[in-house]
Amino acid sequence: MTLSIAIVGAGPSGFYAAEALIKRDLGCHVDILESLPTPFGLIRFGVAPDHEKTKRVSRSYEKTALDEAVRYFGNVEVGRDIGLDKLRELYDAVILAVGAPLDRELGVPGGDLPGVVGSAEFVGWYNGHPDFRDLEPNLECRAVAIIGNGNVALDVARVLAKTPSEMAGTDLPDYAAKAIQASPVADIHIIGRRGPNEAKWTNVELREMGRLDDAVPLLDPAVLPEAVAGEMSARDRRLKEKNLATLRSFPEVAAAGKSKRIHFAFCARPVEVLGAERVEALRLERTRVEDGRAVGCNEFFEIPCGLVVASIGYRSRPIAGVPFDERLGVIANRKGRVAPGIYAVGWAMRGPSGVIGTNKPDADLVAGHIEADLTPTGKPGRAGLERYLDDQGVAWVSYEDWKRIEAAEVAAASPKAPRKKLIRIKDMLAVLDRLPEPRARSAT
Ligand code: NAP
Repeated sequence: MTLSIAIVGAGPSGFYAAEALIKRDLGCHVDILESLPTPFGLIRFGVAPDHEKTKRVSRSYEKTALDEAVRYFGNVEVGRDIGLDKLRELYDAVILAVGAPLDRELGVPGGDLPGVVGSAEFVGWYNGHPDFRDLEPNLECRAVAIIGNGNVALDVARVLAKTPSEMAGTDLPDYAAKAIQASPVADIHIIGRRGPNEAKWTNVELREMGRLDDAVPLLDPAVLPEAVAGEMSARDRRLKEKNLATLRSFPEVAAAGKSKRIHFAFCARPVEVLGAERVEALRLERTRVEDGRAVGCNEFFEIPCGLVVASIGYRSRPIAGVPFDERLGVIANRKGRVAPGIYAVGWAMRGPSGVIGTNKPDADLVAGHIEADLTPTGKPGRAGLERYLDDQGVAWVSYEDWKRIEAAEVAAASPKAPRKKLIRIKDMLAVLDRLPEPRARSAT
């Protein structure tokens, strides 16, 4: 008998889970279900369009997808096209690799005004995610406030600041390129509620901010600490010292002839988004860092802006019948174990942290649990899934189908660009000559 395992989600954590299972030589069948026709999750929809090299990691996922033990079922949404109970009935184990697709709440008055977006939405918009194609963020303004000091905040600032020629070799969709290029945005504020030493970005990304053709990074050198203080590993200290050195170098970046400014504001926490009908300004309170925490100084100021992008981290989406940790915004789990036969990996398991490769150890851990916990029970697995989906009339997309969609995107790309993404699901399915039944996607 064969162990049948379903993985829900075809992002990095899903593919690393499949790879880890194959490596264990359990003789199992692994089926990866993905709600969109396109695989690779955040590699396609999270990694910034100008970071094409980072996306090459998907080549290793392709190897996994083409392994004979593995099958890809795209355009199948668990909860809409098939229930978790049904999956449990068909498979010995279900691994939830569903990521953390929801924005954390900003939780300040005015946080729901038009003109406030989360980075999941905004990054999804400029990366051609079907759910965010129609976001229409307000770029008809002179200033944007980006809240957060992580890599996503830097990605957002960079994509807004880069010139058309800097973005020419990317897969930034035309609608986003047009909106950004037509925008009068000249001031981009990146706001950290704590200090430079507490920022979470990595150095390669921070250095990029000093190398932009038409934007200059600005900060008040007086806010930069003399040294990196506090207890931490030697490696962390080195990384933080590098970041500090990079921030110190910013005042030397030539501003002449540049039309955009990227302002780094530290020790400022958002307290209110101001505006009558839409965002007009962000109100902030100055803070100081005490024992690693931001403490308010009862001193307030405002940054006029027409768009606020809250780049403050993500939450996983609760799944009916699966325990959820509301505080952490993850699927409740004990080192990847959720319930008998149900496991979680990646951001759904540990929250939105680390780099792409950080998902590998989780995957190994969970593959180990599965090896220890389960023996095959003769469940129908793949054959049962195919039968069920066909009975339900689900227009599921195989990996070979995805390669045809990908080929169409590559063929349509302008000479320098790697691909011209198809954005609407119906356009992806049209490449396959498949007309889907109109089905509502779950709310995001
Ligand atoms: P992140 O690294 O966790 O940064 C979130 C930022 O938001 C932190 O500065 C945090 O401040 C701040 N924040 C949280 N809640 C806030 C609030 N209520 N008000 C004000 N500020 C708040 O998250 P991320 O930037 O979304 O990145 C997610 C993960 O993806 C990270 O592991 C990141 O490294 C990774 N990523 C990597 C790359 C890359 O390698 N190029 C690119 C994109 C993303 P505190 O520290 O004070 O909580």
